[in-house]
Amino acid sequence: MTIRTRFAPSPTGYLHIGGARTALFSWLYARKHGGKFILRIEDTDLERSSQESVNAILEGMTWLGLEYDEGPFYQTHRFDRYKEVIQQLLNQGDAYYCYCSKEELEQLRNEQMANKEKPRYNGKCRQESYFVEGQEPVIRFKNPEDGAVTINDLVKGDIVVANKELDDLIIARSDGTPTYNLTVVVDDMDMGVTHVIRGDDHINNTPRQMNILKALGANVPEYAHLPMILGSDGARLSKRHGAVSVMQYRDDGFLPEALLNYLVRLGWSHGDQEIFSLDEMVEFFDLEQVNVSASSFNREKLVWLNHHYIMTSDPAHVARHLSWHIGQKEIDPTDGPDLVEVVKVQRERCKTLVEMAEASLYFYKEFEAYEEKAAKKNLTTEAALVLQGLHERFSSVEDWRSDKLHQIVQAFAEDRQLNLGKVAQPLRVAVMGSSVSPAIDATLTLLGKQKTLARIERAIAYIKTLN
Ligand code: GLU
Repeated sequence: MTIRTRFAPSPTGYLHIGGARTALFSWLYARKHGGKFILRIEDTDLERSSQESVNAILEGMTWLGLEYDEGPFYQTHRFDRYKEVIQQLLNQGDAYYCYCSKEELEQLRNEQMANKEKPRYNGKCRQESYFVEGQEPVIRFKNPEDGAVTINDLVKGDIVVANKELDDLIIARSDGTPTYNLTVVVDDMDMGVTHVIRGDDHINNTPRQMNILKALGANVPEYAHLPMILGSDGARLSKRHGAVSVMQYRDDGFLPEALLNYLVRLGWSHGDQEIFSLDEMVEFFDLEQVNVSASSFNREKLVWLNHHYIMTSDPAHVARHLSWHIGQKEIDPTDGPDLVEVVKVQRERCKTLVEMAEASLYFYKEFEAYEEKAAKKNLTTEAALVLQGLHERFSSVEDWRSDKLHQIVQAFAEDRQLNLGKVAQPLRVAVMGSSVSPAIDATLTLLGKQKTLARIERAIAYIKTLN
């Protein structure tokens, strides 16, 4: 049997963290078993769905690298097929028209609530449809009355639901459009889905969907319901806990592999291993080790993982992502040092690519003003002499290399009998505008001779204006 999993988002917003984790687990399960991963867009709720959200979901999947083997399929393209299946259920006697009015159902509900009963349809039209002139009926599925449905959930274990707990679900609205549970069932059947991996907010739908599948004579897939993701305060993860959109994490300077690594550990573990390459995830992933209880989102851990990947990934790979961030600042990264070299000197200090981009801008564009405190301390009359001396020595350097520049700065300090800080700090502020930067020789090398000399001149001119 070929394993077939699917990710079935409703395009009513961006791809959020919970959705991405569901997608990742489904993707991993398919990859692990040499199966197929299907993307299905559940866009039947026309009012809440939008093309913008579809694009946002596709963009998120692409950025994460969760490539699908089939799809994207759109439910709105499949209405004819849903109609056909609804008709089949009617023909078989597994569905029926229901003419009960809204008011009638409302009253029934109120009565049941007053009697402290679970609100459910009483099956009035099941035996006999009470045709009402001028009223378009809904169509209900005839749920079995006896017996029970057992979900052998691959995460939660066996869950038994008595059929008498389940009422006759509406599968087509009065305008003829199919409802959510029907479309999911038809698609899972037609697409040959073998494993439904989804959030446990759908667990109440599962026995109903299983009954419809059985009525259609379809194979019932395996189910795995993933526990919720909570925010740091124990409430369900939502916007007020910070970013929940996957693309916001890109914008905030995370690498996709860091987010994937973070997501895989949200509710799944493999011993006490924390760092997983994609290959390792595929190798070790299984549904058996998915936690039964909810997991909490922890941004600090994600930042830690991000820094790990920034430090250990191929600098060329990190540079490709950094390039996007530099571009966001409307700076052309070809107007300065090779980004790969920038990554190498910055990666130790920068936990996100946003930090790295910000800390690297001065390589590409003139900074606007000196950082006040740093300038006050380091750009003094005395420093102007140091800068002048350095300018002379740098001017004659032909071979602008780190070791050479290092030697020059060191020899200069010795000649003037100054400690290194008295030389390096003014130089740093002069070329970068602030007193924090990578090693000064690495900074100057990347900056290049021309920009270094120009900035030293600028600093000397600035010091003159102070007097
Ligand atoms: N479209 C549903 C959602 O976005 C998922 C349905 C499913 O996975 O069965 O919540």
